[in-house]
Formats: sequence, C-alpha cells, structure tokens
Amino acid sequence: MSKALFPVLLVGAGPGDPELLTLKAAHALAQADVILVDDLVDRRVLGHVRAGARVIEVGKRGGCKSTSQAFINRLLVREAKRGVRVVRLKGGDPFVFGRGAEEADALRAAGLQVEVIPGITAGIAAPSAIGVPVTDRRYSRGVAFVTGHSKHEGDAPDWAALAQCGLTLVIYMGVTHCAAISTQLIAAGLTPSTPAAVIQHAHTPQQRSHLTTLEYLAADIQRLGLGSPAILVIGDVVQAAAVLAESNTTAHTHRLHATMR
Ligand code: SAH
Repeated sequence: MSKALFPVLLVGAGPGDPELLTLKAAHALAQADVILVDDLVDRRVLGHVRAGARVIEVGKRGGCKSTSQAFINRLLVREAKRGVRVVRLKGGDPFVFGRGAEEADALRAAGLQVEVIPGITAGIAAPSAIGVPVTDRRYSRGVAFVTGHSKHEGDAPDWAALAQCGLTLVIYMGVTHCAAISTQLIAAGLTPSTPAAVIQHAHTPQQRSHLTTLEYLAADIQRLGLGSPAILVIGDVVQAAAVLAESNTTAHTHRLHATMR
C-alpha cells in the first residue's frame, strides 16, 4: 500500500525581518523535515527550523541561475514522494515574481498536493519601510506591481501604458534596467519630476533607501552604489515618505525635497 504523502507547503518568508513572518509560516518551518530555501530569504528566518531538519539551499539571484528551476522542481517532487514534510521557503510572497506558481504546477503534475502560505511581499513591505503608502488615495488610484527584468524583449512590461495609467508603479528587479525604464516612462508622458524612491534590502540591517525624482533615479542609484535586491517606487505617493524622512536623520541626500519646494 502506498503511504499517504504530506502536501508540499509553499511558504512566504516575508522581506527579511523574521518578525514579519506569519505565525503559520513559523509553524510550518518548525514541523518541516526538509526545507528548500532561496538565497533571498533572510537566514534569521531559519531560526524556526527544528534541529535535525534538512535545509537545502537552492539559490538563484538576479537572473543568474545557480540552481535551475527544473532541478528545483524535480527535487521538490522527489523529497515529497519520500513521504517527508517538505517546505519550499521563498522570499516575500511565494506567488509574487517568485516562480511559486511554476513550482506548484510541477508538484500538482506529479500528483502531489500543494498548500500556499502567503508572505509579505517586498513590493508592499519596502515602500512602507520608508513610509510610502502605495495606494494613498490622495495621490493614486491603485498600484501596479511590475518586473523590471525580462528575459525577452516581448516579455517586458508595456512601459508606455504604465506611464499613462495613473497608478503607483512598484518595480521589482528594476535596478539593472532603471535607466531604460525611466527613459521609456518619461518618453511616454510621465513627468520627469514624478517622485521616486529606491529601497534596498528592506527590513534587514542593511536597509538603504533614497528619495529622488524619476529623471534622476537611475543616476542617483549608480552614484550611491545601490543595487539588488531593491524595489523602485514611482508616483506621487512617494511624497508621503519625503515628509516622514524630514523627521528622520539619514545619510542620503533627498533631491525630492528640493524639487517639491
Ligand atoms: N517573491 C518575492 C519577490 C521575488 S523577486 C516577494 O514577494 O517579495 C526578487 C525581487 O524582489 C528583488 O530583485 C527585489 O526587487 C525584491 N526584493 C525582495 N526582497 C527585498 C527586500 N528585502 N528589499 C528590497 N527588495 C526586495
């Protein structure tokens, strides 16, 4: 008789700070026999893993693959079929730009059950770390989460449409192509003085952020040496952060203040 298999848990680890993990995620980690973890996941989150559990690092960063997706999928299926409790731990939310859906599909195709435990996504957590309310109704009608990294030309977001949509733009994986993105947004009609922010390593001890405007965003990122992982926020909601920043001391210059006055 074949043994009953546990559902594989696709678990969101949140943006960094282990206190931003859900209770359900902490519980799942404490019960797991095997945990497959991405390198973007803050290592402090693994403090919930029980002694004796096996942690397998399947790191992948900024498009440069250290473990192929097909290999990760096979490993997940293999471990789950052994009848142990498997947690697939992913940064932020597993279904936001994390290929969680592809992993869920592969598991289901292999006849396994999947449960998803959501996490706090960087696109919300990073802006709020610096006081940016992404849907402040005084400034915007909503928010668009987009990727700044696309494999093929045809996969790229429609920046011209996004420039016209009146939504706050929250861009994941956008640092590398920031100059091209800004140029396209401005060419499509977004005002160069639109407030913009970059937040790197949000909710970790390495957090750095900078407020500026769309036209200076790419140059400022380069000048300050900001890099991945970072979230870009473009839109008038960033003004709210400028107000907050005024009461905080920060090493960075805030070009936005000058343009707003
Ligand atoms: N599933 C994740 C996103 C994976 S894509 C989530 O929901 O957050 C990886 C991208 O997420 C990074 O390139 C960066 O743009 C963003 N990111 C993840 N963690 C971050 C953090 N702590 N600070 C800033 N950006 C982060």
